[in-house]
Amino acid sequence: MERFKIPYGVDESGELVPAEFAKTGSQYKCPNCLELLIHRSGDVRTKHFAHPPESNCSLESILHITAKRMIHHAIMENARGQKTISLKTSCANCSSDLLKELPPGTFSKAAVEVKAGDYVCDVIAYRDETPRLAIEVFNTHKVGSEKSVSLPIHWIEITAEAAIDNPYLWVPTQAAIKESCCNSCQTHVKQIVEVADRFDIDRNVYSPLKDANSSTYIADIETCFKCNMEIPVFWWRGVPFCQTEPSDPKPKTIKRRYSKQWGGSYWANTCANCNVIQGDNHLYLFDGAPFEGMPLSHHTYSGKGHINLRSGASATSEFMKVVRRNLYVP
Ligand SMILES: [Zn+2]
Ligand SMILES: [Zn+2]
Ligand SMILES: [Zn+2]
Repeated sequence: MERFKIPYGVDESGELVPAEFAKTGSQYKCPNCLELLIHRSGDVRTKHFAHPPESNCSLESILHITAKRMIHHAIMENARGQKTISLKTSCANCSSDLLKELPPGTFSKAAVEVKAGDYVCDVIAYRDETPRLAIEVFNTHKVGSEKSVSLPIHWIEITAEAAIDNPYLWVPTQAAIKESCCNSCQTHVKQIVEVADRFDIDRNVYSPLKDANSSTYIADIETCFKCNMEIPVFWWRGVPFCQTEPSDPKPKTIKRRYSKQWGGSYWANTCANCNVIQGDNHLYLFDGAPFEGMPLSHHTYSGKGHINLRSGASATSEFMKVVRRNLYVP
């Protein structure tokens, strides 16, 4: 069989030892098959363990078991108050990279090969005796779709190579964990709720997250061009220039209004303070609009612009041009 380099061996006390720290004269076993390994000690870069030529052990299995043990070890160090683990995710609102720090003491213990529901998980991290997070090591088998929906706890999948390289930095290839926002989105979300509360908008009818699936109405803040107040404004499926009444319960500031500029009536945001219509161009279409990038409806409009839209991404930019050319009077 092909000879491969084994990065870690198991010493006499059962600990994993990297090949570069192996002591001459000590014996090291394979983490997978527990056979005695040969220690190759050239210069530091080429130091490694190897199986005797007649072995049937597989590198895949060795990497998998080594990764599991290293993750287990990292969680135990965290539980003993020694190590921070970093978990890379992305902001649920703006999708920017997010490095979540799990400070020492986040977990209370770890266990390998534990059953969760119908499945055996590679490693489980506990908090107060409760399984909190399953860590699946992706080597040759990704977490299948069936397992991914039926695992009863939060889980992440990381590659064996990445775990061995740095067991304190978890960069998931798949995950089902609690969503979180970056600091600036958290601040903004708080502001949105504050402004909406100020005008008594029911918190149950909107979401402050820019996720079209999180709620029928998505809220943001705009400054009213008329009275200069910070006011809540909303996106829903059907904007811009929505002709059909949006579904109830809806924020009380969404009203059917006539727009001279647009040349017709549509369901629009109005100022919660002075009641004036807030133009859809400014809310959804122009560069830097609060809801820029949210899905737009592509129906045919009956205003004096007589805009027929194509569907897809090009429709938006086409629409922008038409709106700028015909409708927007600065
Ligand atoms: Zn082996
Ligand atoms: Zn963000
Ligand atoms: Zn106003």
